[in-house]
Amino acid sequence: MIEFDLHARGYLIDLDGTLLSGRTILPDARWLLKAVAGRHVLVSNNAEHTPHQLSHMLHTLGLEIAEEGIVLAGTCAIDRIAMSYPGGAVMLLGSHALQTYAKDKGLCLDAPKPDVVLVARDRQFSYAKLAAAAGALTDGAEFYVAAPDLSHPGTDGKPVPETGALAAAILACAGARDYIIIGKPEPILFELACKRLGIEPSEAVMIGDNPQTDGLGAHRLGMRFHLVQNGIIRQPLRLATV
Ligand SMILES: [Mg+2]
Repeated sequence: MIEFDLHARGYLIDLDGTLLSGRTILPDARWLLKAVAGRHVLVSNNAEHTPHQLSHMLHTLGLEIAEEGIVLAGTCAIDRIAMSYPGGAVMLLGSHALQTYAKDKGLCLDAPKPDVVLVARDRQFSYAKLAAAAGALTDGAEFYVAAPDLSHPGTDGKPVPETGALAAAILACAGARDYIIIGKPEPILFELACKRLGIEPSEAVMIGDNPQTDGLGAHRLGMRFHLVQNGIIRQPLRLATV
């Protein structure tokens, strides 16, 4: 295990598998947030909640992270679409919270011919939604995928479907085409987090449990990566042998 570097200018911290597992706080989470206080941003492929919701949820678990210090794939995807298509028509497959967030950003979610299809973590995904999304793409809508993750392990060890699995279904139906991914390992979330911290990627450390998303994304930007395994961040103290 690599020794943890406490002297970086900024830290990008993953959520699931790094600070939390389900609703259980992992062993080093409290220590980490205290050790790098004022120098961290939470960066997660969460494509279901808003930073406001997540900040509140973490508060109920006893972890204090302000919403301004949280960068999430779902809301960042909406921010990006609102920038590229101001007042645009969007078919959003996602949570009620994301739909409200998108409407607050001025996007129109019930237009008959959307400019964009955005798939996020939609627990109400259905045959009808699959048909509608594939149809809109066939009609020329641009396709945004909030996060590429296919699944994560549930507490019972069985896979819990994530946004990428829904995107795969849509692409299987509509046919292969270009699409834009917002979540890790793509650079958008990393860059936004560094901007919030006022630092360059080379001055930051990404702390996460997934080498394929956290690690690869950091590597591409010249950012250091600290792998979390089983919720352990610090190098364990070694007892001197006599
Ligand atoms: Mg993770």
